[in-house]
Amino acid sequence: MKKEFAVIGLGRFGGSICRALSEEGMEVMAMDVIEEKVNEFSSIASHAVVGDSTDESVLKSIGIRNFDHVIVAIGDNIQASILTTLILKELGVKHITVKAQNDYHEKVLNKIGADQIVHPERDMGKRIAHSIMSNNVLDYLELSDEHSIVEIVASQRLDGHTLISLDIRAKFGINIVAFKRGKDIIVSPQATEVIRKGDILIVIGADVDIDRFEKTMI
Ligand code: ADP
Repeated sequence: MKKEFAVIGLGRFGGSICRALSEEGMEVMAMDVIEEKVNEFSSIASHAVVGDSTDESVLKSIGIRNFDHVIVAIGDNIQASILTTLILKELGVKHITVKAQNDYHEKVLNKIGADQIVHPERDMGKRIAHSIMSNNVLDYLELSDEHSIVEIVASQRLDGHTLISLDIRAKFGINIVAFKRGKDIIVSPQATEVIRKGDILIVIGADVDIDRFEKTMI
């Protein structure tokens, strides 16, 4: 059975989620308090409804409990976002993802039991900061406060060396989990694999160790 999603709040973030899910052929119900926004999504989503999600009877009337996953993408109105999440929890929605505006908002959402809390602006800001700080870092994914996966372009310094000769794991405590070379991707490379300048190394480890590796070897 296809999963059914509901997206509440059709701003840039909610709208983008709604479009992406619909393009993937998912069943999506789109909801916003503003009629024009809802009209914009009427031909994109499976259903589009005008409604205020802070009104429990509205959520009940659209059978919100029957959706597998509800995304609360209400922007600046933190109060409405919290109240909506609370009602969704009380109504027994199985999986709730909420966009948080700031750390206080996140704390409250955690307390009331949101299953997933996302900070799109903060996270994208961090990713972009990492990629502009260094010409060699292409992308960055935060795993925890102290660990990341980073895509780094191999420098001249690494060219022609094998993983074993560089002894990266022992020297830096990080792991190269894959290389990208043009269109090819080498997953779990052998210790004897030779690195070429321009290879994209996908590195996992503690931020401090990745940083040390980048500064000394890249
Ligand atoms: P973004 O930063 O993602 O663009 P916005 O603040 O522009 O966020 O969008 C949030 C959307 O959520 C708006 O379209 C707004 O009308 C909608 N919204 C706000 N409160 C409610 C609510 N109580 N019920 C439904 N939709 C709401």
